[in-house]
Amino acid sequence: MKKKDIILGITIIIIGLILMFVMKLYNNSQGDEVIIKVDGKIYGKYSLDKNQEIEIDTEYGHNTVCIENRKAYMKEADCPDGYCKHQGHISKGNQTIVCLPHKLVVEIKVNDKSSGDNAKLGNNNVSKDNDSEDELIPDAIVK
Ligand SMILES: [Zn+2]
Repeated sequence: MKKKDIILGITIIIIGLILMFVMKLYNNSQGDEVIIKVDGKIYGKYSLDKNQEIEIDTEYGHNTVCIENRKAYMKEADCPDGYCKHQGHISKGNQTIVCLPHKLVVEIKVNDKSSGDNAKLGNNNVSKDNDSEDELIPDAIVK
């Protein structure tokens, strides 16, 4: 009997399962928000929940980022290499699409750090959407 071969086989399977588990942990962080940066500055933040096309026109050029079914991808770009269009769909935390000629970075942000199942419970969405634009506080309130 080749008992050693069986033990070796089982060991390989166990290592494989552990690797799969670890990778699942890392890849499980489904993103919530798309952050687009141009030249290191935040150009805009967009929810992954909403299918939309984002036109980005800067001094470097034009890009169109598309959000579709909780995934973001570079739909159009007039950069010389077109490399960003081939970086595929991103949807999970820390994934990025980079358009080097346009100094543009599209990255996925995960808002809820709690693990998987509890994510829905901890939804304290105090509509923080447009707080940067709503700076129109009246100068004085007359009572
Ligand atoms: Zn590009």
